[in-house]
Amino acid sequence: MSRRDEILAEMGLSPVWVLRNKESSSEEPEKDKSLTSAAWIELKQAVPACTACGLHKGRTQTVFGVGDEDADWLLVGEAPGAEEDRLGEPFVGQAGRLLDNMLAAIDLKRGANVYIANVLKCRPPGNRNPGPEEVAKCTPHLLRQIELIKPKLIVAMGRFAAQTLLNTDATIASLRGRLHSFAGVPLIVTYHPAYLLRNLPDKSKAWADLVFAKKTMASL
Ligand code: URA
Repeated sequence: MSRRDEILAEMGLSPVWVLRNKESSSEEPEKDKSLTSAAWIELKQAVPACTACGLHKGRTQTVFGVGDEDADWLLVGEAPGAEEDRLGEPFVGQAGRLLDNMLAAIDLKRGANVYIANVLKCRPPGNRNPGPEEVAKCTPHLLRQIELIKPKLIVAMGRFAAQTLLNTDATIASLRGRLHSFAGVPLIVTYHPAYLLRNLPDKSKAWADLVFAKKTMASL
């Protein structure tokens, strides 16, 4: 069993547990709503208290995620950088400004039917890549966020988000341009905004990915 499936099993979840019907969710019983908000409170306490890997020693604060907790769109990045560690919000640095512009280009806005989270909730020192142990320890927090948000579509930005959620070592180039699934939720892979800042010619490919995502969402 893969690590991701093990985590899902530990949480008592089947691979299709997050596939949801937004229409019926508006009629969600009061009891389910209060269970969901209790679960958010629990998670928002668990993440800042987490010491599961060494990254907790160097953090200013954890970066939980931001946005509409009932969003159709979930965007997943890699890990907080210096600005995010300082401010406690994902994608607030230069890559975040590009992300906001990319969202605006497809008529989306941070916080409005969009939730943004990272694979890691703590900043790796010197902005190094996340280590496999750090990803393994932090992934349950992201999976819980996905379970609670129940997005209609996930956009995995960059190698770490894509490889973690799809449980693969494949490259971004080979994963983009097709519809994947994370536990029953459609998932689209695109480049990380920080990569795009360094590789401007690939911006057109990221644009194509966003158009694909927008069309996919319209069909759901
Ligand atoms: N890069 C990420 O992957 N996430 C952030 O929050 C900021 C930069």
